[in-house]
Amino acid sequence: MLRVVHESVREVSERGALPVLVFDLDSTLFSTCPRNLKILEDFVAARGEEHPLLKEIWPTLTEEDMGWNVHESLQERGVEDEELLGDLRKFWAARFFTDEFCEIDTPVPGAPEFVSACHDAGAFIYYLTGRHVNGMEKGTVNGLVSNGFPLFTGKAACQLKPDFYANDKEFKTAALDAVRSLDGEVVATFENEPGNANLFMRAFPEAKHFLLDTVHSPEAEVPDPSLIVLDDFTSFQTD
Ligand SMILES: [Mg+2]
Repeated sequence: MLRVVHESVREVSERGALPVLVFDLDSTLFSTCPRNLKILEDFVAARGEEHPLLKEIWPTLTEEDMGWNVHESLQERGVEDEELLGDLRKFWAARFFTDEFCEIDTPVPGAPEFVSACHDAGAFIYYLTGRHVNGMEKGTVNGLVSNGFPLFTGKAACQLKPDFYANDKEFKTAALDAVRSLDGEVVATFENEPGNANLFMRAFPEAKHFLLDTVHSPEAEVPDPSLIVLDDFTSFQTD
């Protein structure tokens, strides 16, 4: 199916229109697991002396154990101290939404290759992320460029939330107007949050809409059954 997107990009471009692809970043183009694991590592380093159980379970934790909430990974391994878990939530929130830590993320397999191939075939790449300005823009730019995603080419834009407190869904709803203002043809969108994927599907019914089956928020909407579910982008090479 990713090959079909690539072919559509070429076809739209060849008839003189602007093909547009919309990509979310966290848990869509990037895995946040390395970021979460590093935060846990730092927490264990900071608090492990007073809580030996933390030091004991740390070696058993891997990137694969990282879900939506890092404290759940500890709870699953027997950490029940509510005060400690509360401290971890604060420790996590103080780091997760920062330049320094978001730069730790690694690309979802095949993502840089797929985005680059579509870009080179004529697509305008629209990164639309719930990361925020004034705290995550430098890490976001460094992460995109150092991992081989096209950015400074004149055929890409990166829109972040105007501030940390802006509501994700409202932000992405308003951003649809910016996407439409390109006056192109939205060929496909990629998201891990079902609510946002549903939103894109309603906004651009002619496009293909992909839902990355990575992690999503606990209170997520029910995904529209016509969303195309993807684990990663490796099928672009093997299709
Ligand atoms: Mg996301």
